Amino acid sequence: MNAAFGLYLHIPFCRQRCHFCAFYLELHRDAAAENFLRALHTELRLYAADKMTAGRSVRSVYFGGGTPTVLTAAQLTSLISAVRESFAMDRDCEITVEAHPSTVGIADLSALRRAGVTRLSFGAESMHDDELVRIGRPGATADTVEAVASARTAGFTNISVDLMYGLPGQTLESWQRALSTCCDLSPTHLSCYALTVEDGTRFAHDVRQEPRQAPDEELQVEMDQAARQMLTEAGYARYEISNYAMPGFECRHNLLYWTEGHYLGLGPSAQSFVDGVRFGNIANLSAYESALGEGRLPVHDRSLLTAEEQLRDAVIFGLRLERGIPTSHLNHHAANYGYEKAVTLLRTSNLLEEKDARTRLSAQGRLHADSVAEKLF
Ligand code: SF4
Repeated sequence: MNAAFGLYLHIPFCRQRCHFCAFYLELHRDAAAENFLRALHTELRLYAADKMTAGRSVRSVYFGGGTPTVLTAAQLTSLISAVRESFAMDRDCEITVEAHPSTVGIADLSALRRAGVTRLSFGAESMHDDELVRIGRPGATADTVEAVASARTAGFTNISVDLMYGLPGQTLESWQRALSTCCDLSPTHLSCYALTVEDGTRFAHDVRQEPRQAPDEELQVEMDQAARQMLTEAGYARYEISNYAMPGFECRHNLLYWTEGHYLGLGPSAQSFVDGVRFGNIANLSAYESALGEGRLPVHDRSLLTAEEQLRDAVIFGLRLERGIPTSHLNHHAANYGYEKAVTLLRTSNLLEEKDARTRLSAQGRLHADSVAEKLF
């Protein structure tokens, strides 16, 4: 098969670790970034020469992390040039860069636009400074307002903003104000993520010390419903459990993950799925660099999925979509693995909802997407 694929580049650096974050990352240092970039350029060259990518084009490129914009605009631009030299790009290729609002100025954004970046995703997380302090998120909400304005001046028309709900001290009213402030910025895309307590994070430690800081699930359901109502009224449509877009501005790259698309992930900890094979890079920067220094791909697990496993993944990811999946696919998957009772329980617990012979996660199910997935895996 020669289907086009999406390319994900994981930039594993942040200036500091937010209290709730469990992603694989390192604190940014100039020298460490230089070493990493050398390895990443090598990985690009190895994949460009790999028969897996022969004859296929890139339909989307996504720089995620970490914080890609801790790299300089020149470093990011050089990576984009290397991607173009390595692969054939679709003419309308979507190129997204995740950006921390306080790490970019107009000159950086203009350089990224000139390099062909088509989409920016700003991790705002909240539009209230006191909430940012409580989750250990550096920067201020004014940075987000300024960054979005600068992005427009730089020529970007496709701008996404990430927000989180269920933050310590956040109320339904402060969440609605955050959404309203965000809508005033007129992004074309909004992601609303429920805060979760991840093992090993500073936030998990804080919650153990002071349990009332833990997200209140009922309140999170109300916040999810408020987001849906406000954003629908503002002209956005929810297309995935956490993602809203103006018509035509759904993130093409992320849709690949939920619709059995092919994607190739580069950088430590990045995951790939190409031609029925799932594989992942080692989640360790020095091991990643060592492998590439020896001219080897840093892949540490690889499995060819059977037809049943591919249906399983299509079901688990597809339930996240607003349009859900054909109920017949869910039933087929349940029969393959003997999960009929588990599926019945998910339905009777109102974690799944069915309409017009299609099934998706319910409002309650959206908050428990990971544990629903575990029951179906
Ligand atoms: S900026 Fe993003 S990736 Fe970095 S620590 Fe914070 S949440 Fe995690």
